[in-house]
Amino acid sequence: MKHVALLDCNNFFVSCERLFRPDLGNKPVVVLSGNDGCVVARSNEVKDMGIPMGIPHFKVRDEFKDAGVTVFSSNFSLYHDISKRVMRVLREEVDEVKQYSIDEAFFSLIGVRGEIETELRRIKNAVETKVGIPVTLGAGRSKTIAKVASKIGKNREGVCLLEGKNWIDVQQTVELSSVWGIGPKISQRMMRDGLVTVADFLALPRRKICDLYSINEVRKYDELTENAMEEIKGESGSQQSIMSTHSLSKATNDLNVLKNEVTHHVTSAARDLRKKRFVATHMYIIMRPSRYGDWRLRGGSIDITLENPTDDSRVLLKMAKEAVSSAFEEKVPYKKVGVVFSGLFPARLVQDTLFAPHNPKGGELMKLLDRVNNKLGRGAITIGEEIHGSTSVKKNHLSPAYTTKWTDIRTVKT
Ligand SMILES: [Mg+2]
Repeated sequence: MKHVALLDCNNFFVSCERLFRPDLGNKPVVVLSGNDGCVVARSNEVKDMGIPMGIPHFKVRDEFKDAGVTVFSSNFSLYHDISKRVMRVLREEVDEVKQYSIDEAFFSLIGVRGEIETELRRIKNAVETKVGIPVTLGAGRSKTIAKVASKIGKNREGVCLLEGKNWIDVQQTVELSSVWGIGPKISQRMMRDGLVTVADFLALPRRKICDLYSINEVRKYDELTENAMEEIKGESGSQQSIMSTHSLSKATNDLNVLKNEVTHHVTSAARDLRKKRFVATHMYIIMRPSRYGDWRLRGGSIDITLENPTDDSRVLLKMAKEAVSSAFEEKVPYKKVGVVFSGLFPARLVQDTLFAPHNPKGGELMKLLDRVNNKLGRGAITIGEEIHGSTSVKKNHLSPAYTTKWTDIRTVKT
């Protein structure tokens, strides 16, 4: 029998901060978004206080002080590094892994002998022992069910298998609006059709779903009825990186040509990012000579951590061009240029709730840009050379770069 599982790190950013601050183990902790604007991660203690995700920090500052909540600015180089460690351990334990976001990965459970739950517990222990981040594992007969299971697993000691009767038993308690891939528009429409929970949805015959909804909802139906099994790899929409790259027809050492090429790739990959509703926490600029010849060891990729995860072409272009200028070597004949965005996580987390109060125009502007270009053809409007204004960001509660800076490494006294 084939099963698919999802590993999800619990309160990921908070857990990363706690890893180097064991004194905060059972204490209330939050992480703020860029500019220390809003709450983007909460420890269970803070969730229990009734603090909602995305609330602006200034609204709860006093409450936090009274309750002794420790506040951190977001430290994406740390989170990215810990994420890599989690994924590495997972890959050591299981075969087919597909990272979905900075703190989630799907994997298949083919060839597991014995109980699935025992296997999940084994993997959970391996990650927690080797990395030190608490995780939850959910499994079922489709990715969509595995997602549901990982949510339910948070209250079941971190492991949950939903299949057969177990799955049928919880269907009444799972709201369609919370199901992975059912967006707010569709779930509202379903609500109007009287469908609130997964049980309501699955009570209808498949034929009826085909009549009423689109192919996406029919697919969801099949996944929820345990009748569809997608491949772990190779499905669009669940990816860990977005890239745009190509080889130049002729090598160049003209900085302006390189900048134009990079602009083209960043623009196109950023559009893709927005379409898939992700923001990136990492950008790799590829700028290298041919793999053959005297220059083959020069250049390479420039690694940029986006301390404020974004899908805003203006910000990405500015950083990309600066990176190209600083890495550029006059004599090197560059042959391959491109960009890769990684460390993706859902844009709704930062956009709707978080950056909105600080940068209401950014998101709207990007939407308009994409709309116009979709209608009139790519490149109908583009972004000018520079963005004006300061890009400096407030981070008053930043933790040290424990894993990426020699000077910030923890000392242990005995
Ligand atoms: Mg998580």
